[in-house]
This record gives sequence, structure tokens and C-alpha cells, in this order.
Amino acid sequence: MARKTITVLGATGSVGCSTLDLIGRNPDRFEVVALTANSDVKGLAAAAIATGARRAVIGDEAMRPALSEALAGTGIEAAAGCAAVIEAAAMGADLVMAAIVGTAGLRPAMAAIEAGSALALANKESLVSAGALMIRAAVARGVIILPVDSEHNAVFQCFDRERPENVSRVILTASGGPFRDWDHDAMRAVTPERAVQHPNWSMGAKISVDSATMMNKGLELIEARHLFGLPPDRYDILVHPQSVVHSLVEYRDGSVLAQLGAPDMRTPIAYALAWPDRIDTPCARLDLAALGRLDFEPPDAERFPALRVARAAMEEGGARPAILNAANEEAVAAFLAGRICFLDIVAIVERVLERYDPPAPSALDDVLAIDGEARLRARELMERQAA
Ligand code: NDP
Ligand code: MG
Repeated sequence: MARKTITVLGATGSVGCSTLDLIGRNPDRFEVVALTANSDVKGLAAAAIATGARRAVIGDEAMRPALSEALAGTGIEAAAGCAAVIEAAAMGADLVMAAIVGTAGLRPAMAAIEAGSALALANKESLVSAGALMIRAAVARGVIILPVDSEHNAVFQCFDRERPENVSRVILTASGGPFRDWDHDAMRAVTPERAVQHPNWSMGAKISVDSATMMNKGLELIEARHLFGLPPDRYDILVHPQSVVHSLVEYRDGSVLAQLGAPDMRTPIAYALAWPDRIDTPCARLDLAALGRLDFEPPDAERFPALRVARAAMEEGGARPAILNAANEEAVAAFLAGRICFLDIVAIVERVLERYDPPAPSALDDVLAIDGEARLRARELMERQAA
């Protein structure tokens, strides 16, 4: 059997490393074409050597000499810069894992689609900002988008794509994050160190903060809307602290299908890598008897306003999700740098949305222009607030 060729964008991150772990366990099935990172030269070079990648690309131009040195004598091509990351995405691998964090992953993900590669999509921000354009490009190119985000991967496994008219609701579960039962005053004093400690999942810093504000679930609503195509009022959120039921699909006859598993990203990643087949993973097996119970509760949009703000952006569509996403990225970065407090994150996003209402983007350049302007406005607001 010919090996499936894979390129991993964001190979040094949390999803990237889990992807490489699975590839390393299945050398007879997968062959690495290219790996990319932003500035972690050591991690990238080590991963490229371990997997026998054809090419390694570092996003930060200044790191070019360090990467060349780290790969000298290995025969692995070294490249650097944003354009080189996009080029790596467009090398025509059978599958491209899009695991860059943030809008930075948008052009590379689009390049992979345009090159005709199946896209395993972890980088939800790209779909939030430019979902309509990405889906259109994927349909035009006949390319499948395989969701890696655990909730969307669960829905994908349960959703009847041949007969979508039979689906009445998609229910995304949410752990509720580390502050699920905290009151407003307690959340005011949250530090970055505390916010990145997720109770169930070990993830990169940005998505960990998004989980803590629950903006992550808001972004996931918009992500689901693009992936599954139901009208906005057919997506619900259900808080489920144990993160065992990864999401559910309700059908017109009242049947509800769910996908369950231990909270380990290697399960949805393995599904996306092997689809339509399946592969073994070392993930813990689900022991429901040992767990004894699973809890569920409605989301609290009062304490987690990100849910309300993101749902409105989903319903309004057009440029709103791109603005929401860009302002959120800026605000999360400022929070992680200690420049704003935890509760400011969503407040900043809301204020940028209130004051900026451009027409819907019709091309990728429009999305990136909207993204840039929203970031600028978020930064200005934060500077004014600090002064
Ligand atoms: P990490 O922060 O752990 O990793 C991000 C990766 O992207 C790294 O390889 C990083 O390189 C690279 N990168 C960062 N900025 C740039 C840039 N400007 N240009 C090129 N590459 C860049 O993130 P995660 O793995 O946690 O998340 C990746 C994506 O997957 C996010 O969109 C997230 O929302 C989504 N996701 C993650 C989950 C998880 O469990 N972690 C679960 C569900 C979705 P370097 O190391 O050199 O900085
Ligand atoms: Mg998720």
C-alpha cells in the first residue's frame, strides 16, 4: 500500500507534536513531505530529522541561518519566511495538517486547498475569518476538510452528510474551562498562568485562554456553521465538565448520536490522518463504569459574554466573525503579555465590533484587510485604556 504523504503546518505546537507522535507510530502508513514552524528552530529541525521530512520551513526569516545550520548534512531542504510556509502548504501532499495558531494559518490553509490536498483543520481561526471562501474553494477543488477540533471531529463522525436535511441540531459540548463555576469578581483577578491551566486538555497558550473566556466555544459555533452548513439557530452549546462526550448530532426522529472518548487530541487527529480508515492510538480507553457519571449543564452567557458576542457574529455573518477573531487574537496576546486583565479580553472584542462594520469580504485579501484593521483598532483601544 502506498504511504499517505503528509505536510504538517505548525509542527512544533501542541497539535503538531501530537500529529508527529502518531505519524512516528505508523511509519508504514505515512510519509512526511514538509514541516513548518514559526521560530522554534530546534524543535523543527529535530522533528524533520526524526520523520525524514523532505523540507523544513521556519516562518521567521531571521531564523534561516540557524535552520540551515541545524539541518546541514541531512539532505533536508531548509526554507524561511511566510511565503516559504505557504509554498510548503502547496506542495501537493495527500493531506495537510493545518495546525498553525491564529489568522497566520489562513493563507497556508487556503494554499493547501488550492493545491488539491485534503485538509485536516485544527486552525479554527482561519475558518472563522474566511469560512465562506475556504468552503467555496474546497468545493470547487473537490477537496475534503476533515475537522481536527475535537467537537467538530465528533460531529463529523456522527453527521449524515448524504442526508443533512435529517439533522435537526448540532450540540457542541464545552468543558466550561478552568473558571466554569467562578463568579465575576474572582475572574477579574485571573493571571495568565492560571488561565492557561485547563482542567482536561493540554493545549497551546492562545486556545487555553480562549477556553477560559469560552471564546473558544464561540469560535467553534462559527466553525461548525461553516463545516456543517445548518442555519445558525441549529447549533447549541452544552456544558459538560468531563470532556468525554465530544459533541452530539440530533436527528428529526429524536435520535441523538454522540462520539465519546478520553480527552486526548490524538483520537481526533488520528481520525483525520487515517480517514476514511482508522489507526491504533495509545490513547487511554474510555471506562464509563470507572467514571460512574457524566454531568451536563446549560452555558452561562451572563458570566461568559463571549458566547453571546460570538453567536451574534455568527448570525450576522459577513465581516463580523473576522473582526471578532482578529480583535480576540490581539486581546489574548495583550492579556498573556500582562497588559490587560482577563475580563478586558471580551470587552475589547465587543467594543471593536461595535465601532467597525465593513462590508462582507469577497476575497482573501479583503479578509486580511479587515483582520488588520480590527487588530489596529483593538490595539488602539487597549493603549487608550492603559494611558
Ligand atoms: P500552539 O501554540 O501549541 O502551536 C502553534 C504552532 O503554530 C507552532 O508550531 C508555532 O510555531 C506555529 N506558529 C505560530 N505562529 C505562527 C506564524 N505566525 N506563522 C507560522 N507558524 C506559526 O497551538 P496549538 O497546537 O494549541 O493550536 C493550533 C491550532 O489548533 C489553533 O488554531 C487551535 O485553536 C487549534 N486547536 C488546538 C487544540 C489543542 O489541543 N491544542 C484543540 C483544538 C483546536 P513555533 O513553535 O515556532 O512558535
Ligand atoms: Mg474544541
